[in-house]
Amino acid sequence: MKCAKGDKFSQGSLVPYGNIEISPFAVILNYGQGIFEGLKAYRTEDGRILLFRPEENAQRMKIGADRLCMPSPSIDQFVTAVKQTVLANKRWVPPLEKGTLYIRPLLIGTGASLSLTPAPEYTFLIYCTPVTSYHKSSLNLKVESKFHRAITGSGGTGGIKSVTNYAPVYTAITEAKANGFSDVLFLDSATGKNIEEVSSCNVFVVKDNVISTPETNGAILPGITRKSIIDIALDLGYEVMERTISVEEILVADEVFCTGTAVVVNSVSSVTYKETRAEYKTGAETLSEKLRKTLVGIQTGCVEDKKGWTLRVD
Ligand code: PMP
Repeated sequence: MKCAKGDKFSQGSLVPYGNIEISPFAVILNYGQGIFEGLKAYRTEDGRILLFRPEENAQRMKIGADRLCMPSPSIDQFVTAVKQTVLANKRWVPPLEKGTLYIRPLLIGTGASLSLTPAPEYTFLIYCTPVTSYHKSSLNLKVESKFHRAITGSGGTGGIKSVTNYAPVYTAITEAKANGFSDVLFLDSATGKNIEEVSSCNVFVVKDNVISTPETNGAILPGITRKSIIDIALDLGYEVMERTISVEEILVADEVFCTGTAVVVNSVSSVTYKETRAEYKTGAETLSEKLRKTLVGIQTGCVEDKKGWTLRVD
């Protein structure tokens, strides 16, 4: 779908996958006026296809678009376009045991402008690709104290899925991987004392059966998996706190785990901060495994969806 500045998006169309043409002056290329989303389509045991809370992605895209001075598709347009894309690619939705169809909605300023002004034209497109369902081995994280993930802090862009938030992760992650870590845990930019999130997932800390996660104060992405895990944990009777968590605190936790559309719920086996390495409980008996099973059960139609989180596509 395309739309001019100040306009609404009109109905788009399905086109075969291919390259898109873009002006070298396009605002997305020069000034990063762009935002994206990520969600998955799941095939159930009896062959249905489900989306998980797509209206949450639509809402998050809208908030991000407002922040970057862009028009956005309506919630209804977003969800309908996702459904149509999945339906057209039905045969690519893998069977449950093999994986899922990853869906990437992208909203970019494709209009040309050399001066620092919002693009005169926007493109909203969706592409998708099958991804394998992996239950990744536990993560060993390095606390990053030099670089920041995004322009974090209130008023920045840490709370939205701006395309410009992601490349600043590369240096930190490349260094961490070269030293044997699987990912990086970023600290807040104001004090450098509190944990924020991992490069593309949210983080949770468990101590004495109480679950805590950093609050979404504009610095970190309000993950849809994060929100769902909080609800599931509360329903299961756990105490959950959204609050400031110092790096010292994570080092003495019982359990640590990450959440996100891609990783689902992934346990963390260790966190290293400067010279200190903390190790955590992982495996079948952990709280994160209990939460992961419930979430995946709902997403794939194996556990009753009492909250109406899933949307049938076919
Ligand atoms: N934080 C960041 C920086 C992310 O890119 C993502 C992935 N979208 C998440 C957290 C997790 O969000 P969600 O659960 O909505 O995928």
